[in-house]
Amino acid sequence: MAFDNLTQKLEEVFKSLKGKGKISEDDLKQALRQVRLALIEADVNLGVVKDFINRIKEKAIGEEVYGSLNPVQTVIKIVKDELTELLGGVQSGITISSKPPTVIMLVGLQGAGKTTTAGKLAVYLRKKGKHPMLVAADVYRPAAIKQLQVVGKQIDIPVFANETPGANPVDIARDAIAASTSMLKDVVIIDTAGRLAIDETLMTELVNIKQSVRPHEILLVVDAMIGQDAVQTAQTFNERLGIDGVVMTKLDGDAKGGAALSIKSVTGRPIKFMGTSEKMDGLEEFRPEGMASRILDLGDLGALIDRTKELVNEEEAKELAIKMQRNEFTLDDFLKQMNQVRKMGKFQDLIGLIPGMGKIKDQLKDIDLDSKEIRRIEAIIQSMTSKEKANPKILNGSRRKRIAMGSGTRVQDVNRLIKQFEEAQKMMKKMGSMRKGKKGMLPKL
Ligand code: GDP
Repeated sequence: MAFDNLTQKLEEVFKSLKGKGKISEDDLKQALRQVRLALIEADVNLGVVKDFINRIKEKAIGEEVYGSLNPVQTVIKIVKDELTELLGGVQSGITISSKPPTVIMLVGLQGAGKTTTAGKLAVYLRKKGKHPMLVAADVYRPAAIKQLQVVGKQIDIPVFANETPGANPVDIARDAIAASTSMLKDVVIIDTAGRLAIDETLMTELVNIKQSVRPHEILLVVDAMIGQDAVQTAQTFNERLGIDGVVMTKLDGDAKGGAALSIKSVTGRPIKFMGTSEKMDGLEEFRPEGMASRILDLGDLGALIDRTKELVNEEEAKELAIKMQRNEFTLDDFLKQMNQVRKMGKFQDLIGLIPGMGKIKDQLKDIDLDSKEIRRIEAIIQSMTSKEKANPKILNGSRRKRIAMGSGTRVQDVNRLIKQFEEAQKMMKKMGSMRKGKKGMLPKL
């Protein structure tokens, strides 16, 4: 996942502060210098970094960090709030027209992930009860039309195309919208042509499509891996065409993440979605607060609840979240959660959503969690008595030995699981106490 390096660096900064009872002005200065370096290393725009650090300094004085009882938590909270702002502040959704069809135009450079995103967006909207269709408006590369058709077939979404040589993208878009009613489709997603670099012909064509079909939403698809170039691309597209928002793709890779942290400040346009895999379900709504939490390894309960909702019933998901908030969740819930996670997708991606678990993500890299590790965890938890599950504190050496024997694992495995569980619990407790601060740390239920 992008940001991993930044997460690690920030963690080191906070760790160095944690050793101190009180934070002096010098301590904070030193810490902020490190935060600044971490952000620059993550390829965040320099002007953005400067403003960010200044705002934190001001806030730290305002919130009386130096004298406070728990200065590190106050600093983390300030950093989290400011990161949230950088990422766009509040979440921005897409406009759905009250008068169908809603027209969404996807634009972007070649290779950014436009065609893939078109398919993902259709799947996302279908889950929301919409009836989308796709439109192939890239007439220059026959392969592009074919690619969209393949995507459409894979997800069972109709693709409107005109393969006649000389067909004009503006006409295609118009014809598709006209056809949407008889096709009983209420969302039209237009996949436009891309280029390797921004050029006049492309911009003119996109402006023509825009003027002709007046889309409700123009989304720019950018590749997080190209770093500051993505910010530059967004700026140019916004100036020339006007965009409503950004879809940032490939955040599952090892992009440094700086583009995501700079784009809103530089262009004024929010990231609305992020691409988290090559697969058709790899599109997530972009939630600034959740992402800031993830970067600080505070987990992202909002996203976790969202994914959970897709598979378990809503009541169960809420109950679990409330337990997490109240710090009441037991090893049984932990196991339930692991099993849900297994159903929900790649463990690696999801583990970071659980508070405190981001840290162990790397340790888990080589483990085939789907089969081996979860089964082991399951066996260990099932070998415990209900008393032990509710209160792992009573697990002394002999109990651990018994559990290891009963589950066919080693005492080290039992110890590791208990440690993971305690880590998650500790982080939740922390978040619970942060909630008592001015702004809630946890999503509203
Ligand atoms: P287009 O030229 O803009 O239409 O780009 P494509 O949709 O063809 O995507 C280019 C490549 O990026 C393809 O190999 C996609 O599978 C890949 N891709 C797109 N989005 C993502 C993403 O969010 N994560 C990852 N890992 N790969 C992506």
